[in-house]
Amino acid sequence: MKQSVKMIVGNWKMNGESAGLAEFEALAARLKSDPCRVDVAICPPATLIDRMRRIGGPAAIALGGQDCHAEPRGAYTGSISAELLVEAGCDLVIVGHSERRQMFEETDAAVSAKTAGALRAGLTPIICVGETLAQREAGEAASVVRGQILGSLHDDLTGRDWALAYEPVWAIGTGLTPTLEQIAEIHAAARAAMVERLGEGGRIAPILYGGSVNAGNARDILAVAEVGGALVGGASLKATDFLAIIHAAELALVAADAQG
Ligand code: PEP
Repeated sequence: MKQSVKMIVGNWKMNGESAGLAEFEALAARLKSDPCRVDVAICPPATLIDRMRRIGGPAAIALGGQDCHAEPRGAYTGSISAELLVEAGCDLVIVGHSERRQMFEETDAAVSAKTAGALRAGLTPIICVGETLAQREAGEAASVVRGQILGSLHDDLTGRDWALAYEPVWAIGTGLTPTLEQIAEIHAAARAAMVERLGEGGRIAPILYGGSVNAGNARDILAVAEVGGALVGGASLKATDFLAIIHAAELALVAADAQG
């Protein structure tokens, strides 16, 4: 992906079917005719990656997997390796999404191994962390996120070959979001933990915010310190909604430029 300050990544989860390709086509056409400074990616179901690549996605939109196996190949029925994602046309992969941590019992150690697998294959891993509502209400949000970062990162990570995504579990798909102050607080804590884990290399990778980002709240969220972009679920499925978020990211970049 080209280097820029903001990264907007759509996670289609287990949605899209073939009809979703029309939305992707509209998004790709718009970004080709009207290029922007924002790094845009879509992580569709694996079955759509190659079809999106043929539509011409990578020219304007990077493609990503939603998960990968840590091993490059083998008898792992139902799994997909980072190498297979690269062959299909991916540049990046989400690892450690809370839905995988919760429903598939993925541990920090498993996420770290997947991160290493992604780097081995040349993919940019987006490593997800975030607290549950019970953990937030117990005042543990920052310490939970720190623990997940220390456990899920991998020594092979360097500068900007990866991104972190802070996604409070209670904000995903609920329409709820933390306050801007809460987002700033956890992003600052996440940055400190990234540096604690990786040293100076931990200062560079962007930290995305994820959890009910939409056209209405994106501009404010993307203007928060240390928010380097957004991981977007529901609002990435419709081209017009996703384009509005990309536009908000561009406006945040322009505002940052104006402030010097
Ligand atoms: C997600 O699942 O990563 C996500 C952020 O979903 P939503 O935007 O729908 O809350």
